[in-house]
Amino acid sequence: MFELLNIDTHIEEILRKSLEKQISCNEALKLMKTTGRELQALLMTADIRREQIVGDNVTYIKNWNINFTNICTGTCGFCAFKRDENNDESYFLSAEEVVKRAKTAWDNGAKEVCIQGGLHPDIDAYYYEELLQKLRIELPDIHIHAFSPMEILYGAEKSDISLSEELKMFKDAGLDSIPGNAAEILNDDIRKVLCPSKMNTAKWIEIVETAHKTGIPTTCTMMYGHIEQLKDRVEHIDILRSIQEKTGGFTEFVPLTFMHKNTPIYREGLASPGSTGIEDLKVYAVSRLMFGDLLPNIQVSWVKLGFKFAQICLTAGANDLGGTLGEENISKSAGAQHGVQTDPQNFQRVIRDMGRIPAERDTLYRNIRLV
Ligand code: SF4
Repeated sequence: MFELLNIDTHIEEILRKSLEKQISCNEALKLMKTTGRELQALLMTADIRREQIVGDNVTYIKNWNINFTNICTGTCGFCAFKRDENNDESYFLSAEEVVKRAKTAWDNGAKEVCIQGGLHPDIDAYYYEELLQKLRIELPDIHIHAFSPMEILYGAEKSDISLSEELKMFKDAGLDSIPGNAAEILNDDIRKVLCPSKMNTAKWIEIVETAHKTGIPTTCTMMYGHIEQLKDRVEHIDILRSIQEKTGGFTEFVPLTFMHKNTPIYREGLASPGSTGIEDLKVYAVSRLMFGDLLPNIQVSWVKLGFKFAQICLTAGANDLGGTLGEENISKSAGAQHGVQTDPQNFQRVIRDMGRIPAERDTLYRNIRLV
């Protein structure tokens, strides 16, 4: 392949090495800057690495999202979801309504329910605990994937308990795993502009590592394409892989392209209008080569990218299409144009069209069933 492409010898050296071991941050940054033939070689190499590590299955999960409130005391400049309590569009679902929606999800074949919400002024760790207990009583077998690290921190602070106490309490109440959101870009200078009231980098790391130590796996994410530089993306992925080396608690990496349209930070002229398609492809390809086999699962977000481009990203190192999503309000608020829910047959069509194998999975990438 490399002979035919006749590319820069240094890039070729990095790509050849990446087929055997993880690349360094400097090498990753060089690859993030590739164009033309070098870029094509990067995408092909990432796809080969994906094949070596996870084969040709493209996995997905039948799941359901419940965003139980959009009332939030946070001030994230990239957020178009939050509302003040007295805003006409604000809502706060009762625990009974959350349980009812989760039951509908289960009855419709969902294996996982993903529950997140704003930082509502009236809730604390005991509110989250009670919600988990109510869900668990009604739905003993559904996988509860809930509360971002920011919600975990908010709950602990509001209830004046340690993170470790809180996470143990949530595990006992039925929490199975945590969505690794609120990571955005793990760089404190960027976080001060992007999400000034959120935790800093060290705290995000502490929360996910404590969750992993408590036996609660998490996903990990990166929201990119706003005010950060290429080096910040690389350093972010490097932080994630250091955590993974230590705990092994991440189930997947989910790059999230910034949906700029309705966000304060874009309206104020502080952020770019999101990443380009080529940038997206490079994020998938470079992250595959940075993680190697340390974190085998890299997910494309079809809600943000749309099916057509999500399919292309699956040729650049990614291997998972995420969830069928019964409800999704956060991307929609920020201007995502793609669906709120899809039929698994749409996933299967896209996957088969690439010559890959559709496979249903659970949240922890077990019980893989070819379809
Ligand atoms: S991203 Fe989350 S914490 Fe930040 S303002 Fe929006 S809802 Fe609140």
